[in-house]
Amino acid sequence: MTPRFWAVGVLGVLVVVLVVVAAALIPWHRPPAPRADQLAALGELPRDKVARARAFHSELRPGSYGAMALGLAGALVLGLTPLGAWLVTLVGRPFGGNWIAQAVLGGLAVVLVVEVITLPLAAWRHTIVVRYGISTQFWGAWAVDVAKSYAVGAVIGGLALLGFYTVVRLAPRWWWAFGAAGAALLVVLLSFVLPVVVEPIFNKFTPMADGPLRTELIALADRDGVPVRDVLVADASRRTRAVNAYVSGFGPTRRIVVYDTMLTEATPDEVVSVVAHELGHAKDGDVLIGTAIGALGTAAGVIGLYLLGFWGWLLGLAGVAEPGGPGIAGPRAIGLLVALATLAGLAGGPAQAFVSRHIEARADAHALALTGDPATFESMQRRLSTVNLSDPDPPTWEYLMSASHPSTVERMAAARAYARGDR
Ligand SMILES: [Zn+2]
Repeated sequence: MTPRFWAVGVLGVLVVVLVVVAAALIPWHRPPAPRADQLAALGELPRDKVARARAFHSELRPGSYGAMALGLAGALVLGLTPLGAWLVTLVGRPFGGNWIAQAVLGGLAVVLVVEVITLPLAAWRHTIVVRYGISTQFWGAWAVDVAKSYAVGAVIGGLALLGFYTVVRLAPRWWWAFGAAGAALLVVLLSFVLPVVVEPIFNKFTPMADGPLRTELIALADRDGVPVRDVLVADASRRTRAVNAYVSGFGPTRRIVVYDTMLTEATPDEVVSVVAHELGHAKDGDVLIGTAIGALGTAAGVIGLYLLGFWGWLLGLAGVAEPGGPGIAGPRAIGLLVALATLAGLAGGPAQAFVSRHIEARADAHALALTGDPATFESMQRRLSTVNLSDPDPPTWEYLMSASHPSTVERMAAARAYARGDR
């Protein structure tokens, strides 16, 4: 039995496990958000605010989709022509073509090219976000953020590349098995350490100050049976006027984070409502579910890449088809890997958003049940939408393609359905 035979078998098993995990753990039943309630909610939102949110998004669209198209085009040019292989060779040349230099520096160069060609569009988007008063960042602070995220990406990416090509050299026939296991472990590790290692690079987190709100939030978590050591406040106002909260990490790194903007913009009851939603994520283990699905999907992706490496035509396009060469497992094929990963990411986006919306709807239902206060839940949704300039009822195609949360009017309608007792 050849490694290739085993790879097909393991990939099949992974896909079955992925389907079973998704079927069992994702809350496919969504609480009702009747369209009539949605339209009624939309009608009650201030007309000028809705128009302004829609104008904001239509101004952002060319930059967003332009960046997506340009990033894809760049990845395809580097991956489906010999240009990527040429770039990796070029970057490795000063180091005598050393494989580590090719793998780490060549790999980062390929990724950097794709990032840099979309940078002007990101800058254009920033001007729009500033003009609409959402971003509070001047160019200096914006550039520092961009540089920081490149640096974080380079460290994580560099280590991943080094690990991957070390495995390829140690196990030239079975690298896909170790690579798949390693990539899955990396996803789990990142999800665990990002909140304590990477998030502090971008924001400062301080425990919420003592007072009635903090006492109420800790009591809410207790009543919910979710152990929460602390509610952290992020200094988001250095960057944005938008309000938000989230839960990240798991086990000892789990934290509930509230933006400082939320404490100034929203009423204490509304903060309670948002934290009740985040407690829903914590209670249902949503970070773990996302991590498990991400790890399984990444492992399947590595094996898929290995199998695509038997497709001579594809290797020929990328200029890495020389007989006896490493083919897709060599550093010169990094451009091809980036192109395939970009395609997979774009194709998987709508599925990811679909899953996310179901998980978010469950957290909303949890918040409603925990607080028993649909009126505050609704006023919080209204505030999120008006302060953040989100389109309360976005175009269907965009919603299906990328919405990670139910729309504002869906969330308001869910509160109305709850208030009536349909659940
Ligand atoms: Zn959520």
